[in-house]
Amino acid sequence: MEETQFIWHGGKLIPWKEATVHVMTHALHYGSSVFEGIRVYDTPNGPAYLCLERHLKRFYDSARIYRMTMPFEQDELTRICHQVITANGLKSAYVRPLAFRGYGPITVYGNSDPVEVTVAAFPWGAYLGEDALESGVDVGVSSWTRVAPNTLPTMAKAGGNYLSSQLITMEAHRHGYTEGIGLDASGHLSEGAGENIFVVRDGVLYTPPITAAILPGITRSITIDLAQRLGYEVREESLPRELLYVADEVFMTGTATEIAAIRSVDGLAVGCGKRGPVTEKLQKAFFGLFDGSTEDSQGWLELVES
Ligand code: PMP
Repeated sequence: MEETQFIWHGGKLIPWKEATVHVMTHALHYGSSVFEGIRVYDTPNGPAYLCLERHLKRFYDSARIYRMTMPFEQDELTRICHQVITANGLKSAYVRPLAFRGYGPITVYGNSDPVEVTVAAFPWGAYLGEDALESGVDVGVSSWTRVAPNTLPTMAKAGGNYLSSQLITMEAHRHGYTEGIGLDASGHLSEGAGENIFVVRDGVLYTPPITAAILPGITRSITIDLAQRLGYEVREESLPRELLYVADEVFMTGTATEIAAIRSVDGLAVGCGKRGPVTEKLQKAFFGLFDGSTEDSQGWLELVES
């Protein structure tokens, strides 16, 4: 990670190295944090966030699910994001708002601990590597199941959920894969450790529904919209694991990952073993949003205000 100059913490911008917390911070012990990841792209009109307001809404929703009282409203956080990008002189960036229960009495609930909010922003390349965009990456289905319904809420982007993601990724790396895929408690496809998943078969796109223990990804919904605009049918339904083995194409979506091609699953080549034509068309439409070649008809881009 490339350090930048300032992080917003405790109500103001402070130097990156000074943005620290006490070791008795509640979130360190009990996982009580929620966060977001938002990309800023360098567009012909200037630096622009992709779906800032939707990400911030999900952030506030995540906090609400965990009954965290945010110290200010969403509008204020929008202004803080602008401030962090501008102060760091960033044209493109990954923005990371984080809220967590801080330092206070040591109880499991932590409801009397102050909710602290921080916002960092830094340059970040494609999460699964540049190869993921074109050649595709090798992935494996994990032996770790994603959380069962009514255990930990997957609609919340909470720090604790990423313990499941870490187990899935660790196992994937141990087997030489770039990323791991989780199945839900009923054995159906769920998502990657940090990405949503799509399967293409006979020209139709399939992706697991939000009841499959997935984070309802914002890139997932952008991809569904772009695919429909390109004339593809998209089905959100429960999917068997073996669909991965007979797919024409598989790809993953996420803010950090963008749209990554998958070239093999569990050692079986997907389609012809490289990025397929549907994935390529969707990538072109997606990245076209940032150079103006795809019309931003939904107003997904929001300029950074300085
Ligand atoms: N699932 C998980 C577990 C993730 O961490 C992410 C990345 N935030 C996604 C899906 C994709 O979500 P989004 O497109 O909103 O970044």
